[in-house]
Amino acid sequence: MIDEKIEPILDEVVRRNPGEQEFHQAVHEVLGSLGPVLAKHPELAEAKIIQRVCEPERQIIFRVPWQDDRGEVHINRGFRVEFNSALGPYKGGLRFHPSVYLGIVKFLGFEQIFKNALTGMPIGGGKGGADFDPRDRSDDEIMRFCQSFMLELFRHLGEYTDVPAGDIGVGGREIGYLFGQYKRITNRYESGVITGKDPSWGGSLVRKEATGYGTVFFVQEALKAAGKAFDGRTCVVSGSGNVAIYAIEKVHQLGGKVVACSDSSGFVHDPDGIHLELLQQVKEVERLRISAYADRRGDSARFVPGGSIWEIPCDVALPCATQNELTRADAVALVRNGCIAVGEGANMPCTPEAVRTFAEAGVLFGPGKAANAGGVATSALEMQQNASRDSWTFERTEDRLAQIMAGIHEVCFETAEEYGRPGDYVLGANIAGFLRVARAMAAHGLV
Ligand code: GLU
Repeated sequence: MIDEKIEPILDEVVRRNPGEQEFHQAVHEVLGSLGPVLAKHPELAEAKIIQRVCEPERQIIFRVPWQDDRGEVHINRGFRVEFNSALGPYKGGLRFHPSVYLGIVKFLGFEQIFKNALTGMPIGGGKGGADFDPRDRSDDEIMRFCQSFMLELFRHLGEYTDVPAGDIGVGGREIGYLFGQYKRITNRYESGVITGKDPSWGGSLVRKEATGYGTVFFVQEALKAAGKAFDGRTCVVSGSGNVAIYAIEKVHQLGGKVVACSDSSGFVHDPDGIHLELLQQVKEVERLRISAYADRRGDSARFVPGGSIWEIPCDVALPCATQNELTRADAVALVRNGCIAVGEGANMPCTPEAVRTFAEAGVLFGPGKAANAGGVATSALEMQQNASRDSWTFERTEDRLAQIMAGIHEVCFETAEEYGRPGDYVLGANIAGFLRVARAMAAHGLV
């Protein structure tokens, strides 16, 4: 049930942003928790903070022309939504995927505001990307696309203004090309203008691992609060990109066993436990489909084209692929098979019906804006190292990440208790994240 003061705000967001289904979903999900906040803080209602936070500060849409290796001309659409700068410069990744349109960028940017606030670091929220499909593109084509994209985007960026990073389709290679072009255009070695850089030229150790590790750290904290642990648990991790790979690694380090992972072509089931080096070779080095993993693994693993990875019984489920990948039917299957905890490594991977199913069944549920905040938190650590012209060891950086994730868990846990809904991490994350941003916005006056 949506609060009666919140409902008209939500209606207005839907009316003003037609056709942006994912954005509506993300706003609905956050605003659904904020009724009791307005009751407690009438000053925030009076200043219309909720209405303001739903309207991006600035939205940039631009043409990205480029030529493929045969000389054919392509036109893509680039985006950067600078959503909220109350707590710091706009911060958030770039996604290159054919599904990208304004509604996806706005959902991601909106989530990013509260996620970034939860980290406790001084970063605002933003997101960007393009409807460019990097699949089967040569290195040269990727470079030309990144250069053309940056030739427009650079004017909006700056270490005190807007700091992008990676997301789906944007990894270390793309960050390198984007940074190189920014440096060339501006003639400045402004390390802190982009994060996810290679550690050999200004990046932070642990950034690559951080989202996956952080998700597992968050779930570990939630299990601990319930008197449980990862040790001996069976896990299923969807996806096989950066987030999934390092979530798998950390689960294995903590004594759990990941028995399945996936890509958009299907999933592999490997009851002996996913072989991490083989997975990295197939996905990161050779950039092949996940079936190649099963082909090379031999008898122990099987590839299932299509189908649902969530049918495989597990104790802990970590959706690390993409939005709305885990539906109500999947959630029902997980609950039926005895799943006790779910942590969102991706952004909004569980549909609202799936989240409700987990809540009704008493499954521990870590929402993305809390559980996957480790990536952006480590981006903020990268900015910190860049600003002080320093670089930290792997151990020091991982310790900070673990501390930050424990802090996020604590504030979500305590906020849920304070608002009379113990164990409700969705409510705790939404309220705690919102309050941090709202207080800063109120202090800055009507801007
Ligand atoms: N794209 C990541 C996220 O969804 C990381 C963003 C960043 O490091 O700025 O949080």
